[in-house]
Amino acid sequence: MKINCDQLAGLLPEFFDGDLSTDQSDAAIDHLATCVSCRLTVDELKGVRTLASEHGRLELPPESKERIRRSLDLD
Ligand SMILES: [Zn+2]
Repeated sequence: MKINCDQLAGLLPEFFDGDLSTDQSDAAIDHLATCVSCRLTVDELKGVRTLASEHGRLELPPESKERIRRSLDLD
């Protein structure tokens, strides 16, 4: 099974919760092995989840906040 970036994004919540079927998680890992941008997304989400579990609330890393602010064009 081959998946694209959009499909991977749809699988990520279950991927982190370990709820994927073997086929799905193989496909996700396979995609991550070949797709740098999805790997960065996963690393970022992992960081967010780690922070969230450490602090008991969701906290975006500063560089994500900065990027979101820039994309929203706020200042
Ligand atoms: Zn991708």
